[in-house]
Amino acid sequence: TAKQRTEGAVVYDAAFDQSSAQSLSLLTELRNAIERNEFRLFVQPKISLATGKAVGAEALVRWVHPERGNVFPDQFIPFAEQTGFIRVLTRWMMEQSAMLSQQLASQGIDLKISVNLSTRDLMDQDLPAKFADLLARHQLAPSAFCLEITESAIMDDPVRAQQTLERLHLMGMDLSIDDFGTGYSSLAYLKRLPVNELKIDKSFVLNMEHDTGDAKIVRSTIDLGHNMGLRVVAEGIESEAVWRLLVLMGCDQAQGYFMSRPIPGGDLAKWVTQWQAPEGL
Ligand code: C2E
Ligand code: CA
Ligand code: CA
Ligand code: CA
Repeated sequence: TAKQRTEGAVVYDAAFDQSSAQSLSLLTELRNAIERNEFRLFVQPKISLATGKAVGAEALVRWVHPERGNVFPDQFIPFAEQTGFIRVLTRWMMEQSAMLSQQLASQGIDLKISVNLSTRDLMDQDLPAKFADLLARHQLAPSAFCLEITESAIMDDPVRAQQTLERLHLMGMDLSIDDFGTGYSSLAYLKRLPVNELKIDKSFVLNMEHDTGDAKIVRSTIDLGHNMGLRVVAEGIESEAVWRLLVLMGCDQAQGYFMSRPIPGGDLAKWVTQWQAPEGL
């Protein structure tokens, strides 16, 4: 099925085949992509709804394939997770994010970079040590990063996930529950896990100015997060109307096409200096 993506000019329409021969070649292609420098660090700004200022950015991978053009993450991340390649990719993203963070700091721009982690990353006993090494090499404080973890990644192996998250938290890294509300998890783990942030899934946000059910879910989630002492972020803000609703509801941060699509990491500093929040906050 053809898939239209408006970000950039390239339209990619042939999903990778699921046959084993294709899978093998996809794994080879992914490995080559690292060597050939085909991955790109894109970032999407996170804005404080209280001040209107950019306070962070989410790191999102892009793959510029020599023949297929721009390949979006949903076309290879699931495969990368199945095969374990995601661990290589996560390290690459962390490394790139650290370089970006250093570069921003040198320009006097203080943004927390959020990086997505997968189940496989959480199962890696050495992950906290790798992060500690990364921070030391780039002379960054742990608070330079936030790690986004989906509910499903946690529920795959809640005990191991909790151990890893505890260690990352002790190191001083911020943890965020991504796609909140879409998983099959109970609320009990929210109480147990050392998280700082709750990220409301865009499926509830995209249309919330027209869908009262969605608006109620968003409002309740903001209240729930605040009652638990967490920062609440909404993703998928595509209109000023939704921005304003979220301000009224007291949501802490927003991320979405209305403010910015994901952009190349190198363009972030310029974007931050040009950004102006809607008036009448
Ligand atoms: P996610 O972590 O939930 O990231 C948010 C996705 O929503 C991004 O899609 C972003 O471009 C999109 N988005 C942001 N604002 C809007 C909006 O206003 N409207 C709409 N319709 N969409 C919006 P993207 O970049 O295609 O990434 C898709 C998913 O792929 C991510 O979902 C994440 O689960 C995964 N992913 C991307 N990069 C990485 C990575 O480096 N590592 C891992 N493990 N997963 C990644
Ligand atoms: Ca995310
Ligand atoms: Ca998300
Ligand atoms: Ca998602």
